[in-house]
Amino acid sequence: MPVQGNTIDFDSARVKLAQGSVTRRRGNKPSASFEAVQRQLNLTLQTSLELDRVLGMFFAGLQELLQVDGMEYRHSAANASLSLGQVALHRCSYRLSHAGSYMGELQFSRQSRFDEAELASLEALLGTLLFPLRNALMYREALACALNDTLTGAGNRLALNQNLDRDMRLAKRSGQPLSVLVLDVDHFKRINDRYGHAYGDEALKGVVNCVAASLRNVDGLYRLGGEEFVVLLHNTDPAACAMVAERIRGAIEQLQFEIDGQPLPMTASLGCSTLRADDDAASLLSRADLRMYEAKRGGRNRVVGTA
Ligand code: GH3
Ligand code: MG
Ligand code: MG
Repeated sequence: MPVQGNTIDFDSARVKLAQGSVTRRRGNKPSASFEAVQRQLNLTLQTSLELDRVLGMFFAGLQELLQVDGMEYRHSAANASLSLGQVALHRCSYRLSHAGSYMGELQFSRQSRFDEAELASLEALLGTLLFPLRNALMYREALACALNDTLTGAGNRLALNQNLDRDMRLAKRSGQPLSVLVLDVDHFKRINDRYGHAYGDEALKGVVNCVAASLRNVDGLYRLGGEEFVVLLHNTDPAACAMVAERIRGAIEQLQFEIDGQPLPMTASLGCSTLRADDDAASLLSRADLRMYEAKRGGRNRVVGTA
């Protein structure tokens, strides 16, 4: 498939100098002048810090100017990807950067080839995206720092509080079951004592990757503190919750984590609970927590729960 590849350094002359000097397209649908679209985008793109909204507004503005069927944005380090419109045969893509920092890849597509004048318009219009995109990426990073545990990447307590409140409201409104798991790594102190804190940290990351791989994308994983985690399971009844918990327990047991080439057996104890009509966040979590301790008392490496 034809792909025209380009690199856009937002500092490059073409983006800056092209402003106001571009021929407009006289197609059937896109009818606005470059200057009008540019002015409009300069105003509207400032109105949001949300990456999806900023890109959505840019795409809408671009479509006023050019026939473009689809736009895709990817930034894997920022864990961002967005696809708007329909992907079509002819594509042109841009690797975006500014002042040496990478800002993602944008790809535009449509049924017919882009000509030189159109590409020049498109590239000039990309100039309106520079600061809004940079701000949206910075905002995204700030949010990620505020809501994620820096060691493991799992959600932190603040994220858990926010999401649990929201999920409980949704579950009560929709009548769908909501379950939670509390997971605590067994004898974790021994790992620290025997191998040192740095290895303990690696082991914790290993556990988080292992639990995350056992979950659906919609499920949330949060670090309560230390080696204790919470999983929120949407639309999950007690039986399904116990199954997920058992799957996670088995996956951790099979982890085959190694330290200096030596296998390091790891296990975890899990407690389950499912939302009841009279629950608040604290009672829902504390039921799962009590069951996790029951699992510890029962010999560890096990799941306790039903409703
Ligand atoms: P149990 O099976 O009863 O849960 O035993 P345990 O050793 O896992 O439990 P305990 O609560 O006694 O110990 C938890 C340990 O986790 C103690 C603490 O040093 C360690 N820990 C907490 N947070 C971190 C961390 O971020 N990194 C590392 N490496 N260790 C941590
Ligand atoms: Mg523990
Ligand atoms: Mg603990």
